[in-house]
Amino acid sequence: MSESVLGGPATVVETACPLDCPDACSLAVTVHRGKIVSIDGSHRNPVTDGYICAKVRKFGDRVYGPDRLLYPGIRRGRKGEGKFKRVSWDEALELIVARFERAKAEAGSTSILPYSYGGSNGLLTQDNIDAQIWRRFGTSRLARTVCAAPTGTANMALYGKMPSVTYRDYPEAKLIILWGVNPSASGIHLVPYVREAQKRGATLVVIDPRTTALARAADVHLPVKPGTDVAVALSIHRHLFASGGADEEFLRAHTTGADRLRERAEPWTFERTASLAGIEASALQRVAELYAASSPALVRCGWGLERNRNGGNAAMAVLALPAVGGKFGVRGGGYSMSNSTSWNVERPWIAADEPRTREVNMNHLGRALIDYADPPIKVLFVYNCNPAATVPDQRRVVHGLEREDLFTVVFDQVMTDTALYADLVLPATTFLEGYDFAKGYGPISLDLGRPVIDAAGEARSNADVFGDLATRLGLLKENEPTGELDLMVHMLDRLPAHIGAELRAGGQPVPPFGTAPIQFVDVFPNTPDRKVSLFPDTLEAAAPIGLYRFQPDPATERYPLALISPASERTISSTLGELSRPDAKLSMHPDDAKTRGLEDGDLVRIFNELGEVHCPLRVAAGIRPGTVSLPKGLWRRSTRNSMTATALAPDTLTDLGGGACFNDARVQVASLPTA
Ligand code: SF4
Repeated sequence: MSESVLGGPATVVETACPLDCPDACSLAVTVHRGKIVSIDGSHRNPVTDGYICAKVRKFGDRVYGPDRLLYPGIRRGRKGEGKFKRVSWDEALELIVARFERAKAEAGSTSILPYSYGGSNGLLTQDNIDAQIWRRFGTSRLARTVCAAPTGTANMALYGKMPSVTYRDYPEAKLIILWGVNPSASGIHLVPYVREAQKRGATLVVIDPRTTALARAADVHLPVKPGTDVAVALSIHRHLFASGGADEEFLRAHTTGADRLRERAEPWTFERTASLAGIEASALQRVAELYAASSPALVRCGWGLERNRNGGNAAMAVLALPAVGGKFGVRGGGYSMSNSTSWNVERPWIAADEPRTREVNMNHLGRALIDYADPPIKVLFVYNCNPAATVPDQRRVVHGLEREDLFTVVFDQVMTDTALYADLVLPATTFLEGYDFAKGYGPISLDLGRPVIDAAGEARSNADVFGDLATRLGLLKENEPTGELDLMVHMLDRLPAHIGAELRAGGQPVPPFGTAPIQFVDVFPNTPDRKVSLFPDTLEAAAPIGLYRFQPDPATERYPLALISPASERTISSTLGELSRPDAKLSMHPDDAKTRGLEDGDLVRIFNELGEVHCPLRVAAGIRPGTVSLPKGLWRRSTRNSMTATALAPDTLTDLGGGACFNDARVQVASLPTA
């Protein structure tokens, strides 16, 4: 007799993935005797089409794994040791209330720093009651800039975050440029649409320092040096303006600032740009000519191009291309960027103006913990993220977390690198143990996630815990929602009626402009004058040397190699990093290995003045010479000396948006035994 007969039949529960990935898959989770047996894609979301990434297929290993947090715990050992004594939720939350009140009395409310990012993009899990607490208590404000800040700033300034081309319309394009994005690792459901476009005869261009799977399949691959994308895009603008490829009629009718953009593009000849970017001038010229001549032409602006000192201007120049080239107004033409704001889901209970308290850029966590004095950070509340692994200048971040006079709360699903330094850990539910809204930012989709299993141990949802904490702090007003279920119903009631009804019925709602809008037909810029703002004066003033300008490479003779840390097939940012095998590898081009006398499999030391990382070397031609690569989101256990790529990344900020400059890490690599 089978186990399923003894234990009752297995059931399949439908839910949705709210993790920080563009695709927001619909999931079919098989459950037996209250335990997850398998996680797969369902067909409810047509983009998911019945399959999902290997990462979430293995999510059960996180749910039931040895690192799972099951109970609240108070630190019992040294910071970093990860020894905790179990306490009740009541004790834990009362301790937080006491620490908040004490910090406020001693140094003011801004001595408390809430710290969160995209551990979940679910609408119940972030920017909800948590945001209410921080605003009403008057804590320091966190600028959430570790990712998507430069591209978001550019998209907002140019287009007011107009909805963009969704996966479904890629096969309509005659030319696709994938710029700084590798959908084979993140957002995998885009890949078949690109392949379908190729089958129908589309030309594919990939711009990436690595020879990714799609770069191998591309008609043209431009393996640009990290940080030079702005110059590459400007050289295409120059060609459009000079060759008659600019759509003057569109520019007159729908844009402002074209002349100033033309001026800034003027110096970027193909030869000058190609020499700077380390590519062939003829290949660059071919891309520019293809772009000028093709319609529908589609540019997918990724997040890889923003992770350097020129990231904001790179995003501006790339996103401005379809406006200058006149590529809008046809299905499959225009640009693709985050569609996260397409639903315009309002959360009125957090809409109140945020008090203008001290703002802390999250990329400056290390210096905030160590250097900020007015007031110093006394309480750090970390949730939905793992800054000890993910934030630039890792050594300084860890040093800050070691401060004995800092009270750190970490609310997470597993014992992260950051949780090891907590004074108080709180166990959080995973998305399989509660409700949430999953919003696609590649496809335009909105889905309702449902609990598939009971919460592990005493884990509680963000909505429940922040609701409880807000109540204990006396911050909730009458009739405000306080817990997960309450909040979900509250939100469903406030969505446009047809959307709420569709979600309640387990369906896939459709926004008024559909799920595959044509830019400048179905959707238009959300800028104040409804035009594309090609040269916003506010950004010209905000950027260190102005708009569409190039800041030189930070390489030195001592540290000549550019270290990049792109998304991998193993983690979603750092989520699931606890499951990765140890021994992450540094990828290096054979020429660079030869110069240094290194061979595949050697144990190496990657170093600069900020720190060093020890790991094995992978020598392969899949990366351009002069650039080396370590995966994004590694946990400290993944390397030989417990430091990761963030230990080598400066905490300098991008030209626009205050983003992280991970790819400005310049390093040297040497054999470990002889270094
Ligand atoms: S991480 Fe992305 S691809 Fe994987 S299941 Fe979630 S939405 Fe789908």
